[in-house]
Amino acid sequence: MLRRCSRCNLEKKLEEFEKNSSKSFGFGCRCKKCAAKRSADYRQRKPEIGLQYTKSDHAKVLNRVACNRYYHKNKEKRSVARKTWAVKNRHVISSHARMRGRRLKQATPDWVSMKDLLQIYSNCPAGQPVDHIVLPKHPLVSGLLVPWNLQYLPALINISKSNKFNGVNP
Ligand SMILES: [Zn+2]
Repeated sequence: MLRRCSRCNLEKKLEEFEKNSSKSFGFGCRCKKCAAKRSADYRQRKPEIGLQYTKSDHAKVLNRVACNRYYHKNKEKRSVARKTWAVKNRHVISSHARMRGRRLKQATPDWVSMKDLLQIYSNCPAGQPVDHIVLPKHPLVSGLLVPWNLQYLPALINISKSNKFNGVNP
């Protein structure tokens, strides 16, 4: 079976095409030669990208995809497991909540108007929890609970943001 390459326009055997599982027959539209030339050209045009994206980055991406797939496959099982854990460990959860309350109270200076803060929380759009730009729980800095340290975030970004502080505000 022959296939025409979209680049050099030559008809070649299927085996001579780059593999691409998302395309028909499992092969891409370029032959291997053209595909190799294209990625070489790209590396030449944007050498910084080739340097930035290493094999270990790729492994990380693959790992994240696998974790994601596992999570979605086992969503119900995970949520049952989480609920069972929560019932058994009520004291852990309530102590976390108490500590969080204490931390937030410590992070709120006397001169901040409670009205302003409550307004930020009550105007919060659905699905976008209020986020501390600098987190209150951090060994080096403490993000104050003040209006200019709060922002609305789509929930997913909030989860992916970790407790890191790199010395500058984002
Ligand atoms: Zn070609």
